Amino acid sequence: MTLSQEIRTAFRTCPFCEATCGLEITLKGNEILHINGDKEDVLSGGYCCPKGMALGELQNDSDRLRHPLIKRNGAFEEVSWEAAYAEVEKGLLPIIKRGNRDAVALFYGNPCAHTLAGQLYLQHIIRALKTRNLYSASTTDQMPRHVASGLMFGSPALISIPDLDRTQYLLILGANPLVSGGSMCTAPGFPKRLAAIRNRGGKIVVIDPAKTRTAKAADEHHPIRPGTDAFFLLGMMHVLFAEELVSLKHLSGHVQGIEEVRGIAAQFSPEQVSGACGIETAVIRRLAREFSAAPAAAAYGRIGTNTVCFGSLNAWLIELLNILTGNFGKAGGSLFPQPGHSVPFQGPGGKGWQTGRRRSRVKGYPEVMGEFPVATLTDEIETPGEGQIRALLTIAGNPVVSSPNANRLDKALASLDFMVSVDFYLNETTCHADVILPPPGPLNTGHSDIMLYNNAVRNVAHYSPPVLPPQPGHPDKWEIMLSLSLIISGQGAATDPAILDDFIIAQLVSSAVKKESSTVAGREASELLSILGKRKGPERMLDWMFRTGQYGDGFGKNPGGISLDRLENHPHGLDLGPLTPAIPEAISTPSGKIELAPLQLLADVQRLKTTLRIKQPDLVLIGRRNIRSCNSWLHNLPSLLKGDNRCTLLVHPQDAARLGLAQGAYARISTGTGFVEVPVEISEDMLPGVVSLPHGWGHNAPESRMAVAKINAGVNSNILTPGDVDPLSGNAVLNGITVKIVPAPGRE
Ligand code: SF4
Repeated sequence: MTLSQEIRTAFRTCPFCEATCGLEITLKGNEILHINGDKEDVLSGGYCCPKGMALGELQNDSDRLRHPLIKRNGAFEEVSWEAAYAEVEKGLLPIIKRGNRDAVALFYGNPCAHTLAGQLYLQHIIRALKTRNLYSASTTDQMPRHVASGLMFGSPALISIPDLDRTQYLLILGANPLVSGGSMCTAPGFPKRLAAIRNRGGKIVVIDPAKTRTAKAADEHHPIRPGTDAFFLLGMMHVLFAEELVSLKHLSGHVQGIEEVRGIAAQFSPEQVSGACGIETAVIRRLAREFSAAPAAAAYGRIGTNTVCFGSLNAWLIELLNILTGNFGKAGGSLFPQPGHSVPFQGPGGKGWQTGRRRSRVKGYPEVMGEFPVATLTDEIETPGEGQIRALLTIAGNPVVSSPNANRLDKALASLDFMVSVDFYLNETTCHADVILPPPGPLNTGHSDIMLYNNAVRNVAHYSPPVLPPQPGHPDKWEIMLSLSLIISGQGAATDPAILDDFIIAQLVSSAVKKESSTVAGREASELLSILGKRKGPERMLDWMFRTGQYGDGFGKNPGGISLDRLENHPHGLDLGPLTPAIPEAISTPSGKIELAPLQLLADVQRLKTTLRIKQPDLVLIGRRNIRSCNSWLHNLPSLLKGDNRCTLLVHPQDAARLGLAQGAYARISTGTGFVEVPVEISEDMLPGVVSLPHGWGHNAPESRMAVAKINAGVNSNILTPGDVDPLSGNAVLNGITVKIVPAPGRE
C-alpha cells in the first residue's frame, strides 16, 4: 500500500460555530472518508452536530474558490495571485492617496473568529488602514455584552460565562443553545450539559417568545413579548430589593452603585411590568425568589436579548441579577474563563473603558470598540461629503445577507469605486467585489480557537495542525492578510509577507522582555526568537502566546508548562480545570470595583420607561436558528440542505386564522424597507402576535456562484429590518420588528 492510500486519523477542532467541538477525521491518504466527534476531546467529549460532519463538504466544495478572481467588463476571471494583488494595489492606493483614509472601509464577518489568521492578523490590516470606518458582525449580534462588560468590569473583553457544569439553576433568556450550539458560552455538547443540570436536581427556566428546542428541554418556559426582557429583569430585581433577597456575599466590598440600582428597581414592580412583557406577576415574583434561593444560579442571555433596541440594558441587567444574588464570580454561578493562552488578571483597578471616542459621520453614532454600527454602513457609502466611503474591504463576511436593510446595502455596494473581498465564495456580497482573494481550504491550515476559549465553560488549551498539505501556490490566509497590509501601507504588492511577519514577532518579543510583569522579563530577545524560530505565521505567534501565558513553559522557566510542541503531543487538547473565581483581580475599572450603576445605563433606563405604556404592535418578527445552518455561509453544503425547506414563516394558529394564512401557502411579509414571500408553517410554538423567519437566507443574487444554495435560496430576512440600533452599543435591532402579513398575492 502506498502512503497515499493509507487510512489515517486526524484530529481537528470544528471551525463552524462557537462550540469548538473536537472532530475525528478519517482519511484515505488525503481523501476524507468520514468525520465524527472526537470522543477524547477534553471539551466536547465526542459531541458533534451535522455541520461538523459536513466539514469535508466545504473542503471539497467545487464552488469554493481556489484562485483569485478579478472582475473585468462585469465578469469574473481567474487570475494569478500576483495579478490579483497588483489589481488591489491599483484600485485601493489612489483612493487612499487622495488623502482621506476614511474613504476605505473594512467589514469583517463572524468566521474571522474561527480562523487563526482572522484572530491574529486582522489587527495588522486595521492598523495599516487607519480608517475610522470599521464595521463587523459584532454590531449584528453581540456588542451589548461588550458594552455591559466594559462599563461594569472595565474591559469589554471580560465576558462572564454561566458555570453550566456546576450550576443548580439556569435562567436562559433569548437563547436556544440546543440548536445554536451555544454562543458567548463555549460549551460543546450543550444538550448533555443541560440534561446534567436536571439530573443533579437542578432547574432550567427559559424566557423566550418561542417554544424553542431549548425551551422544550427546560423545566419551565415562559413566553415573553420580544424586546421586553429589560422589564422582566427589572421586575425580578424589584422583588429582590423589596423582599430583602439581595445578598452580595463574597462580592461585598467589591461593588459600588447598589443604592442607584435599588432606586431604579423600585420603579418597576412586577405589577407595572407584567403587561408590557407578558409574564404574570406571580411568575416574576416566584422566579426572583427561586433564583436567589438556589445554592448556585446563573442567568444567561444571548441573541434575543442583544438584537433589540434595549440590548445593552438587557446585558447589564443579566449581570446585575447574577451579582445581586451573590452568584457572580462563584462556582456554579457566572465566572470569567482563564484559558491556556491567557495572562493573569492584573487588577483590581485599571484605566476603565469608554465608548464614543468618535462619532459616525452621517448619524452621529458613538464608536464602540473602535467600530461603528454595521447598520449605518449604507449611510456612510451613500452620503456624499468628506469621509464618504468609496472603497470597501470585506473579510469573511456577507453583510448583504447578515446586515439590516439589505436591499439598500446591496445597491450601495454596487456604487463603490472599488471593493476587495477575502472569501471562500462568490456570494451575495462578494459579487460586488472587483477582486476576490480566496483563503485556502479549512483543512489546509492549522487551528486554535483562542478567542472562543475566552468564553468557554472550562479552561482549556488546544491546537490542531493542518490535516491536509497546503495547496501548491496558494498563500495561507495570514499571508493574504499581511500582503493586504503591505499594499495598504504602500510597501508594495511584491513585498514578501514573511518579512512583515518576522518584524511583528520581533517587536512583540523585544517589548515583552522589557516589561516587568511579563514572564520573560529580562530575557534576551534574540534567544527567545531563536527558540520560536522553527515556526512562522500564526503557529509562531501561538507558541509565543502559550509559552508566555499563565500556564506557559516560560521558555524553560516553568518546565512542563504549555508550549505548541506540548499541544501537538495532545491532539485532544489539555484540560486546565473548571473556571475559578477571579473577583476582584479581574476588575479593571478605575475604582477597582464592579460598577453596578454606570451613568450611560442609568440614563437608558429612562428611555426604557417611556416605552412601558406603549401599545404593543399587532405582529412582530423574530429570527430563529436551525442546527444545519450557521448564519449565511454553510448553505452550499448538500448534506446540510437536504430535507424540508427551513426558510419558512412560523405563525401561531390564531394568527394564521385571522390573517387567512394556510399551512404551506405563501405569505407576504412587509415593512417600510421591503417585502419577502415565504411559505407558512403553522406552529403552536409561537406566541400569538409573534412570527419567526430564520436569518442567513436569500441566496438569489444572479452573479453568485453557489449552486446548492441557489437551488434552496430562501429569502433574506434583512430585507425587512430597517436598520435601527440599540443606541449604547450600536447593535442592530433584528428582533421585534413590526411587520404586516397578508397571503402572498397570486402565489399558491
Ligand atoms: S456544534 Fe458547532 S463546533 Fe460542534 S460540530 Fe456543530 S458546528 Fe461544529
